[in-house]
Amino acid sequence: MNLYSLIRDVKDFPTEGILFKDITPLLQDREGLRASIDQIAEKLEGVEFDLVVGPESRGFIFGVPTAYKLGKGFVPVRKPGKLPYEHISETYALEYGTSTIEMHIDAIKPGQKVVIVDDLLATGGTTRAMVNLIEKVGGEVAKIVFVIELDSLNGRSVLEGYEVESLLHY
Ligand code: 5GP
Repeated sequence: MNLYSLIRDVKDFPTEGILFKDITPLLQDREGLRASIDQIAEKLEGVEFDLVVGPESRGFIFGVPTAYKLGKGFVPVRKPGKLPYEHISETYALEYGTSTIEMHIDAIKPGQKVVIVDDLLATGGTTRAMVNLIEKVGGEVAKIVFVIELDSLNGRSVLEGYEVESLLHY
């Protein structure tokens, strides 16, 4: 199934000058939703891993059903102050300012293999910070899958050495 028709462009969101890729039409389409999860799972065929790691909040939407479908566990990476147990943090640069993400210290055991699933690769800052969190606790990133990749921002350059695949390219 071709998913491009289910991605909506929204001008000037969240700030002026940004053309936001809105995935909600895809989510509300029952065939589109199923196809997107199936296609992510296909990208993970033959990949050996223990856990799916996904960032708040759209990474949860695609990450959990992927983990369920493939019979794996799920690790949430969250915005600051949301995780109840002991956690580690990673701060990364945004266009203006910085952002921080957090993960429980015992979410991944040393030597465990994980895959990262998220909705969109832009600059790669979020994903790079996730890789750093995973590797800090001794985890290994086996593959990274996005629904959408904004090719012109070249987020892949900060993920060099990792296997990265996306369902849709703009
Ligand atoms: P990056 O860290 O690669 O610059 O930005 C990617 C993160 O920001 C992802 O977690 C994604 O959810 C969010 N993001 C940035 N731009 C967009 C967009 O146009 N559409 C959607 N759906 N998410 C975006």
